[in-house]
Amino acid sequence: MTCSLCEREKKTKWHYHDERISIFECESCKVPMWVWNEHKAKLSKKQIEYGRGMCRKLFGEDLSFRGPKKILNHYHEHVKRGG
Ligand SMILES: [Zn+2]
Ligand SMILES: [Zn+2]
Repeated sequence: MTCSLCEREKKTKWHYHDERISIFECESCKVPMWVWNEHKAKLSKKQIEYGRGMCRKLFGEDLSFRGPKKILNHYHEHVKRGG
């Protein structure tokens, strides 16, 4: 099984990376998205807050997050700036 989120290549712009999450530009939507590094469908509240918190550090407080729609077995969220 292949998962496009596990096979993240540095094709697009990368904003951030650590041992838990990666934040990079989504190829199709052209907005930043944060991805849990591990292949996991569900995250705890704390883990989600970690990802969102890191986005706020990078992009500011005024963000909204859109949860997974297409790839449901690997947690990620799209980041929308300015509400
Ligand atoms: Zn995956
Ligand atoms: Zn996208």
